[in-house]
Amino acid sequence: MSVMQCDRGGCENIMCDRYSSLYGYLCDECFEELITSGTWNIEYFMGTPRPQVESPSLEWYEGIFNKESLNGRSQAHHCQGPQTKEEIPNLA
Ligand SMILES: [Zn+2]
Repeated sequence: MSVMQCDRGGCENIMCDRYSSLYGYLCDECFEELITSGTWNIEYFMGTPRPQVESPSLEWYEGIFNKESLNGRSQAHHCQGPQTKEEIPNLA
């Protein structure tokens, strides 16, 4: 199996199934990043190294936007402010 190393600067991915006769090989990860970047300047893109920092994991995002569990609802913040009926403790 031949090595098809990504020709993007700084990328060491060797499993590239994309090839341009002009720019060489590109791995899927860089390809997706290229699309995300929305650039017309392929040459510039190929010359820019991949970001040193990995993208945050799904867990990282979930840590910020907690999924509300059904019984955790009363502890959730409400955009309307704290003075809603729901938030007044039930002093039974
Ligand atoms: Zn790559």
